[in-house]
Amino acid sequence: MSNPHQNSIKQLDKVAKLLRNSYQDKKRFDNAIKQLKTPQNFFETDLEVTMDDGSIKKFKAFRSQHDNARGPYKGGIRFHQNVSADEVRALSTWMTWKCAVTGIPYGGGKGGIIVNPKELSEGELQRLSRAYARFLADKIGPWVDIPAPDVNTNGQIMAWMVDELENSVSVERRASENLSASFTGKPIMLGGSQGRDEATGLGGVFILEKLAEKLGQERKRDVTIAIQGFGNVGYWFAHHADQLGYKVVAVSGSKGGIYVEDGLDPAKTLECKNTKGGLDTCLCIDGKCSVSNGRNITNEELLELDVDILVPSALENVITKDNAGKIKAKAIIEMANGPITPEADEILAKNKVLVIPDVLANAGGVTVSYFEWAQNLQGYYWTRDEVVAKLQPLMDSAFEAMWIMLKQHQTTGRLATYMNAVKSVIDAMMLRGRI
Ligand code: NAD
Repeated sequence: MSNPHQNSIKQLDKVAKLLRNSYQDKKRFDNAIKQLKTPQNFFETDLEVTMDDGSIKKFKAFRSQHDNARGPYKGGIRFHQNVSADEVRALSTWMTWKCAVTGIPYGGGKGGIIVNPKELSEGELQRLSRAYARFLADKIGPWVDIPAPDVNTNGQIMAWMVDELENSVSVERRASENLSASFTGKPIMLGGSQGRDEATGLGGVFILEKLAEKLGQERKRDVTIAIQGFGNVGYWFAHHADQLGYKVVAVSGSKGGIYVEDGLDPAKTLECKNTKGGLDTCLCIDGKCSVSNGRNITNEELLELDVDILVPSALENVITKDNAGKIKAKAIIEMANGPITPEADEILAKNKVLVIPDVLANAGGVTVSYFEWAQNLQGYYWTRDEVVAKLQPLMDSAFEAMWIMLKQHQTTGRLATYMNAVKSVIDAMMLRGRI
């Protein structure tokens, strides 16, 4: 397995090569790139948790704060058995770029604990979350670092962490800081934002709209879409694309997917999946499900369908050097994080498959997290429609900036997006006089 931190450094070197010419002071530019290869702060500890049987177990935990030139560090907390220090370093680096892409005033952070949360009882999970919040207490805050949910963490875990943070700091700190703005992705009742659930999928559909316009698609119903994954991101992407008139012909889950040539009904498909416990009998059109509406397909088949837009929304590394050459879609919108390996990326570029990278396509999530933080700090809350109205212009302008860079440098969507992001971070570092 390749090392994710080394990959993030290689990626930065590639972008640096393209950007270097646009900086007069090459020495300062080179220094900035050097600084950006290592997180500014990296914390590591062993959390001690009392298990239900009275024993004490240790869990390795990390927090990486990559760069704060554009604002406080921001990034999720991952609970997974495969978490490693270098994965957390890389993810925090990618968060720096993702925040810069939509222009939200944050740098990148990320946290993780090596644990399989499915092996813990609810009580153990709560004690682990609280122990992590105590470890973070003097390292985070609304103007320092703002964690959020990531893989296997959720609003409930954020609620425990906010509670623990508030209870473990001094009265002076509680009185002077709005500590609930130290975490986002909280339940609505504890200051979460309306529209957060659908934000990532909806943000991706704003990108789809822009892409369809650039590809000269006149009738939305002529644009066919296949979506791998039908969880939070995949469902909301399917729902909003369908509502706008696009034709979603395939979706999948971990056990396989469905293909409905005439376009499936996402809401009915979800209802059926939740009732039946799987997608295979849920071939639904206009509110009615019947196996004669289409056919079952495997996840591999879904990726290779002859559609206009392919939307991986489940796992990382699903498009590799082995299947990249078989992709027939004209464009890929990466809603999952890292679904395309670097080798596959090169094959897709050669085959002229346009890739809209994850740091742009799925940035709707962190953007609405920013809105949550802003609402917490002002103590005044927006409706779902206000949130959506504020999200769209940020996604649209991020896409336009990518498109201009792509045309100007005749490069890929990924490199164009990274060039804008890295440039914005380096410019902030230079303005601050850090380099
Ligand atoms: P989720 O757990 O709600 O959904 C994941 C989906 O993937 C489920 O439908 C599951 O059945 C499917 N899946 C699991 N294994 C699969 C397999 N082997 N083949 C095909 N499908 C499989 O997760 P989510 O929140 O929708 O996140 C999906 C992706 O989007 C992840 O990569 C995540 O990091 C990324 N992402 C999510 C958000 C967010 O706001 N939720 C934000 C940014 C990025």
